[in-house]
Amino acid sequence: MISVAIDGPAGAGKSTIARAIARDLGYLYVDTGALYRAIGLYALEQQADPQNEGQVLPLLPQLHLSLQFANGEQQVWLNGRNVSQEIRKNEVSMAASAVSAIPKVREFLFDLQQNLAKENNVVMDGRDIGTVVLPKAQVKIFLTASPEERARRRYEELQQRGQSVEYTQLLEEVRRRDYNDAHRAAAPLRRAEDALLVDTTGNSLEQSIVQLTKIVKERLQDVL
Ligand code: C5P
Repeated sequence: MISVAIDGPAGAGKSTIARAIARDLGYLYVDTGALYRAIGLYALEQQADPQNEGQVLPLLPQLHLSLQFANGEQQVWLNGRNVSQEIRKNEVSMAASAVSAIPKVREFLFDLQQNLAKENNVVMDGRDIGTVVLPKAQVKIFLTASPEERARRRYEELQQRGQSVEYTQLLEEVRRRDYNDAHRAAAPLRRAEDALLVDTTGNSLEQSIVQLTKIVKERLQDVL
């Protein structure tokens, strides 16, 4: 099976780009952030503090998480409910970032992610795919963009969904999430040594999709 790992900070365009590449290659697109979001959502629903390991860990045995795919679109199921829309709410982003710092939460999701890549050709996006989850991925990309650009993209995305949030608040959240993701002890966000660094600042998503699709195809030709 072939794996393409795409890691990078929030708002670098990973999900849109990874989805487009997966469609082009006919691979399964797996958005691993959705899994952390589902756990963050569940913690909020159960009135647990997502930062408090002692409150989050007892929830894990109650959690039945699965990813299902229809027409290449990933759906996240949490205890029999399709939560694919709910996990996109802004408050869930911070909760996801908080629970993802807990090593046992990461372990809990490890097999699910690896099994998907064992059974399918995948384009998988996340924070630690090239470093931890799929260290043998045939292609690894580390996607980034400036914090301001990422906050602006997030602002536009939320506006389109009718959620009004201040730009300055989003910029602050982007910075805080970057810091949390890069400084946590468990699987911090960092570029794998063999990952190609791509900065999308100043590029439209369409430009980045064309650029990245070309890069991934060239790399696949080299390794296959
Ligand atoms: O990618 P997305 O913003 O949906 O991810 C939500 C949160 O989940 C991130 O802020 C990050 O802390 C965490 N995450 C992670 N490892 C992954 C994917 C996401 O720690 N592979």
